[in-house]
Amino acid sequence: MKILISNDDGIYSPGIVALANVASTFGDVRIVAPDVEQSSMSHAITSTRPIRFKKVVIENFEAYRVNGTPADCVALGSHTWGRVDLVLSGINLGTNLGNAVWHSGTLAAAKQAALLGVRGIAFSTTIDETKEPNFARLEPYIRKVLELLLKDKTMCLVNVNLPKKPKGIRWTRLAVGQYDGKVVAAKDPMGRPIFWFTVKPLDGEVEGTDRWAFGHDWVSITPLRLDLTAEKDLARALSLPEVPAMTPAVRRKSSGHRQKKIRKRRLGPE
Ligand code: MN
Repeated sequence: MKILISNDDGIYSPGIVALANVASTFGDVRIVAPDVEQSSMSHAITSTRPIRFKKVVIENFEAYRVNGTPADCVALGSHTWGRVDLVLSGINLGTNLGNAVWHSGTLAAAKQAALLGVRGIAFSTTIDETKEPNFARLEPYIRKVLELLLKDKTMCLVNVNLPKKPKGIRWTRLAVGQYDGKVVAAKDPMGRPIFWFTVKPLDGEVEGTDRWAFGHDWVSITPLRLDLTAEKDLARALSLPEVPAMTPAVRRKSSGHRQKKIRKRRLGPE
């Protein structure tokens, strides 16, 4: 199995080595990651200039740094290595829970894989500003998550968050009820106004969500999908008289056919 590894913290992040160490017991590993930190870059791609890679030494792994985004790295890595079987992203130094998935470069690397028809799994953990996460403690859980997910061929995009001291694993949904994005005003040394787009703490967690699981020291696994269509809204809209539409039955049939084709391409031969 060919496993491509990327992240958004940059190729020299200790999280990428921790992930590569576990992944290398499942297959051949290649690291292709941004040369500098790309956190919160989400799914940006570099379209206005060329991107290139350079070989670097990351322990015993074959590794390349790229002057681009996490999504660039996965696209370039898959292109140059040929068909990869799995893309892993992380381990991000910081959680990606709930609405953080909209901004996360870590998840975007996994999403880019899913767009290319390859399974993508993103891993994130919490950090203490003063010291590195205890990756040795997390490794058995990463291994267990990979064993679980590799058995189930239907999940093409998965977001995993690891607490500091996990007590087990839980399947979860995204905690999208609250948003923690916040703009804070400040002044630069010249007294001119500047702004930080930062996060605020959220209170209360809904049981069954990723934030809840993480808050109760469970490793959270959230299966995600690429199709953002609001199915209920669409169904209602199709019944409105103002816009003539294909009949729902026709639409459903064609989309089902397409899904099947995508799934087949994504997962390749059994
Ligand atoms: Mn990051």
